[in-house]
Amino acid sequence: MSACEIVFTREDINSIVQRVADKLNEEFSNSTSIPVFIGVLKGALPFMMDLIKKCTFDLKTDFIQVTSYSGTSSTGVIHLKKDISEDIRGKDVVIVEDIIDTGLTLNYLKQYIQLNYNPRSIKIVCLVDKKPLRKVNLQPDISGAIINQNKFLVGYGFDYNELGRNIDYVFVPTKKQLIEWDKKLNLEKK
Ligand code: 5GP
Repeated sequence: MSACEIVFTREDINSIVQRVADKLNEEFSNSTSIPVFIGVLKGALPFMMDLIKKCTFDLKTDFIQVTSYSGTSSTGVIHLKKDISEDIRGKDVVIVEDIIDTGLTLNYLKQYIQLNYNPRSIKIVCLVDKKPLRKVNLQPDISGAIINQNKFLVGYGFDYNELGRNIDYVFVPTKKQLIEWDKKLNLEKK
């Protein structure tokens, strides 16, 4: 992974996740509510797992999956692929997302969850808030880090055509890296 731009090291990620957890601990530690954390698959998986381990109150977990991305850009068309299984009616919900870019995915998810399950509250937590490309007025309640440039990120859950999610830091892949991944993916198809 030489010559790529590292955006967040493993240590950066650890402090970002701790900061987000501290805010949630403040909010829920003295409450009788048992919030349901809904992780948005697949990108939020590493963040969700690290985050819940730093939360010191009782919580439940669930997952939802939508698709909107192909390669390095959002298609803008959102499909629900997997729904939640917990009963969240009247409960406090925390949606855990890896990144907010245009805001279309979370806007869709928030409305979907509100209309279909009528929870008591919905909070949105994201690891990275990519502000410049917002197409809808959707603000997270807690964001780990804000990025003001339009960078395509890979690692720690962020993928390039499903690859790179397992890398332990966040970086901007070089063109060469993307070409190498494309080659591998093409070989796999044969
Ligand atoms: P939005 O609907 O806000 O445009 O995009 C949200 C989804 O797009 C995220 O859940 C994530 O899957 C994907 N996404 C947005 N920016 C990036 C990025 O920089 N890298 C990767 N790998 N995915 C991104």
